[in-house]
Amino acid sequence: MSVTPETPVQFLRGVGPARAKDLERLGIRTAGDLLRHFPRRYDDYSQLRAVAALRPGEQATFRAEIVAVEETRPRPRLSVLHAVARDRSGAILLVWFNQSFRRRQLQPGREFVFSGRVQWQKGRLQVENPEYEPVEEAGLHTGRIVPVYPSAAGLSQRYLRRLVAQVLPLADGWRDAVPEEVAARLGLPPAPRAWRDIHLPPDFEALQAARRRLAFDEIFTILVGVGLLRRQAAAAAREVTYSPQRPLSDAFVRSLPFALTGAQRRAMEEIDADLLGPRPMNRLVQGDVGSGKTVVAAWALLRAVESGHQAAMMAPTEILAQQHAERLEPAFRSLGVRLALLTGSTDRAAREEALRAVAEGEAQVVLGTHALIEERVAFRDLALVVTDEQHRFGVRQRARLAAKGRNPDLLVMTATPIPRTLALTVYGDLDLTVIDERPPGRQPVRTLWRGEAARERIYAWLGEQVRAGRQAYIVCPLVEESEQVEASAATEWAERVRRAFPDVPVGLLHGRLRPREKAEVMAAFAAGKVRILVTTTVVEVGVDVPNASIMIVEGADRFGLAQLHQLRGRVGRGSERSYCVLIADPVTPEGRERMRVMEREHDGFRIAEADLQLRGPGEVLGTRQHGLPELAVADLARDQDLVALAQQEAERLLQADPGLERPEHRALRERVQAAFADRLDRAVVS
Ligand code: ADP
Ligand code: MG
Repeated sequence: MSVTPETPVQFLRGVGPARAKDLERLGIRTAGDLLRHFPRRYDDYSQLRAVAALRPGEQATFRAEIVAVEETRPRPRLSVLHAVARDRSGAILLVWFNQSFRRRQLQPGREFVFSGRVQWQKGRLQVENPEYEPVEEAGLHTGRIVPVYPSAAGLSQRYLRRLVAQVLPLADGWRDAVPEEVAARLGLPPAPRAWRDIHLPPDFEALQAARRRLAFDEIFTILVGVGLLRRQAAAAAREVTYSPQRPLSDAFVRSLPFALTGAQRRAMEEIDADLLGPRPMNRLVQGDVGSGKTVVAAWALLRAVESGHQAAMMAPTEILAQQHAERLEPAFRSLGVRLALLTGSTDRAAREEALRAVAEGEAQVVLGTHALIEERVAFRDLALVVTDEQHRFGVRQRARLAAKGRNPDLLVMTATPIPRTLALTVYGDLDLTVIDERPPGRQPVRTLWRGEAARERIYAWLGEQVRAGRQAYIVCPLVEESEQVEASAATEWAERVRRAFPDVPVGLLHGRLRPREKAEVMAAFAAGKVRILVTTTVVEVGVDVPNASIMIVEGADRFGLAQLHQLRGRVGRGSERSYCVLIADPVTPEGRERMRVMEREHDGFRIAEADLQLRGPGEVLGTRQHGLPELAVADLARDQDLVALAQQEAERLLQADPGLERPEHRALRERVQAAFADRLDRAVVS
């Protein structure tokens, strides 16, 4: 029987029902899955060495003949197999533990290629549990660059290698997303070559080339998909129109107690040009924490209202939605604009009333959380959708809110600074506005990294500061098990703080509190009644209490840098000098470097770049759904040059064949369809 990518692994040599189950735990069900099971790393057993030249401590490969074998049983459950092997230059001892069955293979007079770590034991060189193959067969486990696969359930490397080798001929017919013509032009190896070499590379150069080809393939697929999304957006018809007169939005700006920054003004101009333009707006406004994005969002909401439409703004947390409502309500009321708030905790009567007001168009601006995308929420005339702190939402949630209007304008606000490579891939279908200026008079938050040993001194200083009128956040260590565990840890922490400062009002905020309790604590903190707020990362996004000027982050090394930067953004919002103290004793050099980055850098973009380098894109974006296919080979930090290349090539290809209709683009079309199924209209790629 011939093997195809869809052949179930049970039909391969050496796979019975039990093994098939084990393989399934690695996500391997078919022959194709095996081919896509990429090595985790490689051992270099490619250089054959003379036995006499071996040195303790090195990984080495040598060809030698067995001259003697002996098995001993020093303890009841321990058997030790000793073999002496020699080549022309000298002899070495090989040792296996509890592997009696190898006696059958390791017969004196037979020659093998051995690979393993050389040790110095009792005055002689030896190798424990070496890999080996008969010289006639050498080339899979030894004598070459050997792949080491992610494994589980006791599946041995030898077993996995044999299976992969069995399906490797599949690579010859493998169709890749990248058309061969493109690969050839970029000097990337053809797909069959790359798929073979990623598993069994003849040398490191070939391995590197294979890796680049496969990484390019992943990035290219995404960028073609993103390019199609952009084209889809560009082809969308504007169905809502805006008036060029700006009575409300102008009045709003005049009512502000401060002058807009240049960057805020520019953002508004770009948004206005979009709203008056021929296509629906798809714009990402990216501005570091505290850069004043809310004012820009509020202004855009009013542009919709003064044009006779409704607008909605979705925030990722109750606290934030609540805060937006409190901030905007007075200004909007004085402009005669009616606002509704919809969150999970809005009580029934209020919700019914809000739903009615929204459906009938009485509520002109609707603020809320995910509750906004529930099916029951219907708008009369939704023209503009703003999502705040977009990194907390999936692309799909954004789309679901947009579906409540007819091609509404989309404004996406984020404080997560996105390095350019990620911006191209994750948000590539959006136009970008950067607010790169802070309101005047802000000083950078003085950031200090200290070990646990300094905690007592830090808390003593905190006590003085709080008694002198400052307010502070204490962020509890990140607990990943569950919100429940995190909540009880935070509660305990708050108790400790209360005992330490019996004369200071201490508040507690965590995800398990009821929305009303959260709102009460936040209100008390904002009013200065609570002086120290012990909190989990619930407080991470958007919260704005200007008198809070101190933040202590416990277990700071457990947080991502982007997250620490977000947290730190809660202070430094008033005119008072602000401090952020990171308490952590990271054990790795990388962990220490991350703390130093936080001390040194205050620019979110530079921090995100550093995070991308140190920890990879997962950290920068958070674990939340960002609507992109998984990357198995590509690494957006390391492969920045490939992103730029893929961007050019994707554009070139889409210009030549916008519907991906040519036969040589069939594999590409299938891949893009699979990856972007729920974001692309059928009409774009069918
Ligand atoms: P973010 O961009 O993090 O969402 P906010 O919109 O919450 O920032 O703004 C942070 C603080 O700065 C708020 O208290 C806001 O009133 C204030 N602010 C916004 N724009 C200006 C400005 N141009 N001048 C002075 N303060 C401003
Ligand atoms: Mg904000």
